[in-house]
Parts: sequence; structure tokens; C-alpha cells
Amino acid sequence: MRESKPLFHLLSATIVMKLKSNTHSAEPPVKRRSYLFTVILTVVYLGGEPIFSEAPRPNILFVFTDDHAAHAISAYGSKVNKTPNMDRLANEGMLFRNCYVTNSICGPSRAVILTGKHSHLNGFIHNGNTFNGEQQTFPKLLRNAGYQTAIVGKWHLGSTPTGFDYFDVLIGQGPYYNPPMKTIVDGKVVVQKNTGYTTDVITDKTLAWLKDQRDPNKPFMLMYQHKAPHRNWQPGPQYLTLFDDVTIPEPATLWDDYKGRTSSASEQAMTIRNHLSPNDLKLNAGPGNLTPEQKKLWDAAYGPKNKAFQEAKLEGDDLVRWKYQRYAKDYLRCIQSVDDNLGRVLDYLDETGLSKNTVVIYSSDQGWYLGDHGWYDKRWMYQESLIMPLIIRWPQAVKPGSVNESIVSNLDFAETFLDLAGVEIPSDMQGRSIVPLMKGQKPADWRESFYYHYYEFPGAHNVNRHYGVTNGKHKLINFYHKKEWELFDLSKDPNELMSVYANPEYAEVKKSLETELARLRKQFQLPEDEPAPRKPPPAKQEKKKPEA
Ligand code: CA
Repeated sequence: MRESKPLFHLLSATIVMKLKSNTHSAEPPVKRRSYLFTVILTVVYLGGEPIFSEAPRPNILFVFTDDHAAHAISAYGSKVNKTPNMDRLANEGMLFRNCYVTNSICGPSRAVILTGKHSHLNGFIHNGNTFNGEQQTFPKLLRNAGYQTAIVGKWHLGSTPTGFDYFDVLIGQGPYYNPPMKTIVDGKVVVQKNTGYTTDVITDKTLAWLKDQRDPNKPFMLMYQHKAPHRNWQPGPQYLTLFDDVTIPEPATLWDDYKGRTSSASEQAMTIRNHLSPNDLKLNAGPGNLTPEQKKLWDAAYGPKNKAFQEAKLEGDDLVRWKYQRYAKDYLRCIQSVDDNLGRVLDYLDETGLSKNTVVIYSSDQGWYLGDHGWYDKRWMYQESLIMPLIIRWPQAVKPGSVNESIVSNLDFAETFLDLAGVEIPSDMQGRSIVPLMKGQKPADWRESFYYHYYEFPGAHNVNRHYGVTNGKHKLINFYHKKEWELFDLSKDPNELMSVYANPEYAEVKKSLETELARLRKQFQLPEDEPAPRKPPPAKQEKKKPEA
């Protein structure tokens, strides 16, 4: 790793003194300061390297959404929507096809990103935990190394953010409209009211920070994090009727009967058929926190649609089809606002010249079932919820329009950001910087397999605890409290409909994956004994429990 050295500190101090003594310079102060900053950075942080040949450390803009499936991004081949601004990032950067989440649920994914450690080590194994903000995180390390750090939008980790010069975050899940947000004013944590659609509000605040609070003398690391498209998918005012005149294609596995898998797949509670609520389907009175103007638009959009639905008196599969259309359209409407707002931010970077040396990352905390397997939600190690979208643009080093197939993970994000900043990666982080992959260089010893572990059971949607391993070709899953295993041949059965665990033809594959699973569990310091299932929440509070 690059480390600054005393000799270079001394050299930088000398240059600073010489430049400061140049009081008769004809250059305006701002330009002089900028030059000074570049020289200092180059000397101090590139210790040991050719010292005047590299650009200043890049800015990092982490654009993060909640529950956005890669297969609802046109750059990933979506059959259901178009996302021109996400595609713009992909056309100008690199798209990762195999970015896997270690634990497919909101809070845990975020905790892994901050720490570069698996859930059992960072302490946030399922939603409802509180993140210990005293532990080592990448924002703290970047801040210590001279980065200006900020987070705007969804935090969802219970505790107050640490490691940031600035935060302005939703409280818990936060609503889709008119969100109260927590920030710091004069050193005190305060909650402020906001009016508007939350995706727009978060973007307005992000742009305001970039325009008014960014320190031009420091590189920045900004986390711009949306609530959307999380359940229960309330579209923005401009998109309440988008897709009204089209039929969204149904996924191939909408009518899955779960017969080819163990008992867990059929025991879940996340089907479009049975588990979407009237609130999810917008068949109730609508959000209770709208302004009169917002309410008027909402009712004008859903009123006639709901009237037609009531009159149709649908039943059975026809009702499932209707529910799928309503659910998918609302989900995609929320994504359309995310895409528009991403465009606003990208435009700002272009207008100010910041695009050139800002690494822009688009990702989401896990994948998602957009009707696949008849489901909504996430949690499983199956492909749709295992794959996170990951698109990275960095004009300095990433080839435009490139695609990467290597197995990468949210476990790698902290290490990657530190590497970009030239900061040493702590040895107790468990992932690996993907910067070489971004530069088109795959290290010979890059990982060929991936460890997954989901813990939230008993819990919302009744998905059993499981861990597993995949190498991208096969996948072995252990529902360990039930002692039930599944094995999938992903090339022959990409939709994971038929486990071949008991098929003797796969005996060698099974054995090899079992060995790999044991090796990874040891490498990642998993305890020998799994923790007991968590205590079920009291029945009375079940309804109030925030959705993941
Ligand atoms: Ca999520």
C-alpha cells in the first residue's frame, strides 16, 4: 500500500513554505491554493512513486438504493423498464455482472459495506440490530486521511452515523413523501421537516451539499442513498400514471410451485399471490402524510384504476396477474424517479468538471424478486436476491462500456474506496479492493467462490436461516436449522428450480463445494456453533415491526 513517508512530509513542508512566501504571485488566491493542494497531495500521498506524474486523489460518489434488482436496469438487460441515466454510467464505465451480497437484507448489507467484514463480525446480523458506530469503518479511515465525508438519505442502521463531516439522514425506513430527517446543526443532532417526494428531497440535499458545503481543498466521499424502491413502492407525483397503458412482461418463474427445492422455499411468506397487503397494492386510502396537493394527485391517479379493479371482480390466477402488474408498475415508477435524479447529479458533475476525477458507483443493498418465483422481497441466496447491481464510472482508469464477470461483493466496497484514496487497507477487513478489476487487470489469485449467510429467522417473510457457497457455476445451500441442503447447476438450471443435491451425477461437485464451504467458513472466522434462532417478536408488535 501507499504510505506517506517522513522524507516526503519534509519535502512537502518545504514546498508549502516556498509557495506561501510567493506573495507577489499574479494568480488569484483560489487558483494558487488549488495548485498548492495538488502539489502537497502528490508529494505526501504518493510516497515512493514518481511524485509529480499522478492526478490528485479521486472523489468518491456512492449512489445507493434500497432493493433495486439488477434486472430492473436496462444496462443489465431489463425487460421491464428503461433507466437511461444508470445506462449512461454503464456506457461510460464498467458494469459488474456478478456482484454478490453476503447477507441479502438491508441493514446487514449496509454494515458490511461500512466495515468490510461479514455480519457475524460487525455485529449487525439482521434488521433490528443497532450498528456499533464505535468500530472501524471506511468513512472514518477516509476522513482521517483528509477526505471530506458526507452521507445524505437512507442510513437504516439504528445508531447515529459516525465518521462523517456531514450527515442528513432518514429516520429508520423513512416515508416516501415529506420525510423528517436527522442532521447536525451547530454541533447538535436535530430532526428537520421536509416537504416533497423523498427521492427528490434527498437529491436536492445532495446537490446543496456539493454546491455549498463541499471543501474544494479536499477530496470528498459522498454517500447519496435513496429509500426507493423499497416496499411499499409509493411513486412520485410525476410518475403516478407511468405504465398505465402498458402490460409489464411476467417473469418466467411467476408461477413457480417450489416443488424442486427443500421445504423452506414453499414455507416462506412473500408471494404476490398471498402476501401483498392492501397497502402494498394501493387499495387503501393512500399514504396518510400527504399534503392536500399531493393527495389530490394520488387520488386522481389511483381512484379510477382502483374502481376498474373493484368492478372486474378478479379471482385466482387473474387476480395474481393483476397484483403483479400493480406491484411491478409501482416498483418501476419509484425507480424512474431515482434514475431522473441520478441524471441531475451526473449533470452537475459534468457542469462543474468534477466528473473527470470522481469515481461514481451505482449499487443497491441487495437484489430483489420482481415477481420471480412468484415473490417480492429478498433474503434468499437464489440469484435474483444474491446479485447486487454494481456500475462504476471513473474516466481516469475505467474503460467506457466495459463489463466484468469476476465475483465481487459488498464485502469489497470498503477496501475499494480505501484503495482509491491510497489509504492502507486494515488487515482485519475481509474483502478485497476491486480497483485492479476496474483497471481491466484481474489478479491471478482473485476469488473463485463466494460465502453467503442469512440470519433473520424467525422474522418477516419466514425465510429460514441458511448459508452457502457458489462459484458461479454451481451453488450449495444449507438450511442449517432444518438440516436440508440444496445444490443447483446454474448453467443447466439458471432459474434454480430443481435441486440436484440427491443426484449421484453431482457427487463430485457436491464434495468439492462442501470442502470449499468449510474452507471459507474457517477463513471468515465463522463460529463452530451457529447462534440459536432469535426470539420471535411478540405477536402484538408484529404489525408495527418495520419492514426490512
Ligand atoms: Ca434493502
